[in-house]
Amino acid sequence: MNQDNNKKRILTGDRPTGPLHLGHFVGSIESRVKFQDEYDLFYLIADVQALTDNHDNPEKVRSNVLQVAQDNLACGLDPNKSTIFIQSMIPEIAELTVYFMNLVSLNEVLRNPTVKTEIKEKNFGDSTPFGFVAYPVSQAADILVAKSNLVPVGKDQAPMIELSRVIARRFNTTYNSEIFPEPEAHFGVEKNLVGTDGDAKMSKSKGNTINLNDDEQTVIDKVKRMYTDPNRLKATDPGVIEGNPVFIYHDMFNDNKDEVNDLKERYKTGNVGDVEVKDKLALAINKFLDPIRERRKEFPIEKVEEIVMDGTKRTQEIAKETMQMVKQAMKIDY
Ligand code: ATP
Ligand code: MG
Repeated sequence: MNQDNNKKRILTGDRPTGPLHLGHFVGSIESRVKFQDEYDLFYLIADVQALTDNHDNPEKVRSNVLQVAQDNLACGLDPNKSTIFIQSMIPEIAELTVYFMNLVSLNEVLRNPTVKTEIKEKNFGDSTPFGFVAYPVSQAADILVAKSNLVPVGKDQAPMIELSRVIARRFNTTYNSEIFPEPEAHFGVEKNLVGTDGDAKMSKSKGNTINLNDDEQTVIDKVKRMYTDPNRLKATDPGVIEGNPVFIYHDMFNDNKDEVNDLKERYKTGNVGDVEVKDKLALAINKFLDPIRERRKEFPIEKVEEIVMDGTKRTQEIAKETMQMVKQAMKIDY
């Protein structure tokens, strides 16, 4: 069992805002599964964070809580090795967030490049929720409440992990303590996985995903509609491979490298139609998803709920210990 207090820890998680997709797999789930033997791994279902931009849609968040856990279990996250928990059931995270807010300047929060992009994309207008802007501070509390050393994430999360390091350092210096490690980021891929529409990020909220729980036909339909080289009108036109989502996916999910190289060669010289490239991609993705579909059957939702409740109990104990130390260091341990 990994669940001992001597191993280095990992904190990682997802927002329960929809079913997880191929981007999640390459960005973080794959690393989670790989690291769970070596580390004591905590997987967070970030319902509090999901509410920062969905406060008026609690049903959406609620209905995805067990779904995201099930997606991870289906990909090989092992409940005997890893601890899965619900963020809102750890009130210490909210408490720690309040204290951490004093360690960060308003400018630092407003400068966060990912938050800036997300604010634009979400069209908040003049009504950006204060809680949304503050979510990186809350995310530092997620990471540090478990005293995590490593955080496997997608590239968009780099500024959040940097802020967590700054907060850990400032806390330790300000309160003359050694409570928090400086967590390091681990990126599964150098760049976020592109969407089926060619957007720079496959994202639950953009409708450009291939989901881990999509059935065969859905995958075929989504691949058929995928964005390719917009300048290539006929099968005899030479096409561009670089940045072409169809080939990015072929590189990642098609394990038949000879087939991929052959398709690329013929695409570049105008000797293959989009239909063949896409048919082969759909087959490859379905083959990749098959074992995930199989393992999902081992985790019906009632079983997922039990696993999540067990993990939450363990995390509650750890959070209590951390909070006691924090309060002592801050001289508020009445
Ligand atoms: P939302 O649109 O609600 O923010 P999301 O699709 O961005 O959803 P999150 O739950 O915010 O998903 O992200 C969970 C983890 O998956 C993060 O570590 C994030 O960096 C990673 N991730 C999400 N999308 C991608 C992607 N397209 N490529 C690589 N990693 C990704
Ligand atoms: Mg996100």
